[in-house]
Amino acid sequence: MASCVQFWRISSARTEIPLTEMRVFGRRMPSFLRCSVTGEAASSELDPKVFRHEFMRRKEYNRKGFGHHEETSLERMSRDYASENIIEKLKENGNEYRWGEVSVKLAEAHGICWGVDRALRIAYEARQQFPTQNIWLNNQIIHNPTVNQRLEEMGVKIIPVKEGKKQVDVVGKGDVVVLSAFGAPVDEMKLLTQKNVEIVDTTCPWVSKVWHTVEKHKKGEYTSIIHGKYAHEETVATASFAGKYIIVRDMEEASYLCDYILGGGLNGSSSTKEAFLEKFNDAVSRGFDPDKDLEKVGVANQTTMLKRDTEEIGKLVENSMMRNYGVENISKHFISFNTICDGAQERQDATQKLAEKELDLILVVGGWNSSNTLSLQHGELVEKEEWLPKGHVTIGIAAGASTPHKDIEDVIVKVFQIKSEEDYSHAAI
Ligand code: SF4
Repeated sequence: MASCVQFWRISSARTEIPLTEMRVFGRRMPSFLRCSVTGEAASSELDPKVFRHEFMRRKEYNRKGFGHHEETSLERMSRDYASENIIEKLKENGNEYRWGEVSVKLAEAHGICWGVDRALRIAYEARQQFPTQNIWLNNQIIHNPTVNQRLEEMGVKIIPVKEGKKQVDVVGKGDVVVLSAFGAPVDEMKLLTQKNVEIVDTTCPWVSKVWHTVEKHKKGEYTSIIHGKYAHEETVATASFAGKYIIVRDMEEASYLCDYILGGGLNGSSSTKEAFLEKFNDAVSRGFDPDKDLEKVGVANQTTMLKRDTEEIGKLVENSMMRNYGVENISKHFISFNTICDGAQERQDATQKLAEKELDLILVVGGWNSSNTLSLQHGELVEKEEWLPKGHVTIGIAAGASTPHKDIEDVIVKVFQIKSEEDYSHAAI
């Protein structure tokens, strides 16, 4: 039985397309960048909800695509991302199949989700709709190197970032800006509007649902507790729609927060207000005061966090508010909406189930900076040569919601290649 999931670095299976990164140690690029925009000052005083409504009504705005899907976009996307036949073969056989010395077991839920597929389709259609214009992406469209490289090859460039600042000055009048599946902060949208550019918005509808949630918190004067990573593009965008907010990364931070709410009555982990503000320095709205701003709270999430974790954090916060204010007063102090996408959780559950099978190892395929892919990794990380056992091997394959099927297939083909070289070297002895 495979007791832990391990990662190894393997090189590209096909020379044409680099594999989605599979790294263990080695130098790791910063996963997330907190960016601020340069250029004309973007006002943050406007009501984000009203602004977005106006933004979406502009004639230079599109979030549905351009009707080219059945033409070349579909064909090009299939060529770039669809699996040729290995994934299909696995699916036909209950997600398990043996090719010579390699048996593959595929996680039931794996790879690209609906929201990512939709974002890519719209971006591909934008290239076709605007064949000669400059097209910019406000961020990586998703956290997958293969996908971002493909778009770059199509002339879709990411707005550069210098010393933590997004260089929006590179975008000129008449250019096209594609907003990534993670969305964009309000100030950035405002700045782009001033620049008179064509906007193609691929924000996943589940992400904009979270924006509506924090807007409702704001309307009711509840502080948004956002379960996410404060510098992740999606959370930066979500926070820009919130009023008062605090971002908690995990249960440890949520417990600290709740302990503070309960005056040390949860587990004693919190201490002074100064220590609280230092701990959440980068993760709170301007002027945040934990003594006043935690009296009325609601919970929202970064969609790539695990659903179960967000639900547990929500329960902990709700219980803490009940303890503080009484069950009868909970609705005045806690508000909850269900906006959690299952995409990341389903893939994690499937990976967990896969790890219970008889396997020699599991390969997790996806971008190193992909939050949903990283959530599939548990257990010890090791780096080693000769990582593939000799002889017959049974491999589990898992993949995050931003991983195209073609990447998964490329990894499997690479394993076949290594095994065939092994056979060859044995024959040569
Ligand atoms: S995992 Fe969910 S929220 Fe994230 S892109 Fe996919 S569908 Fe959208």
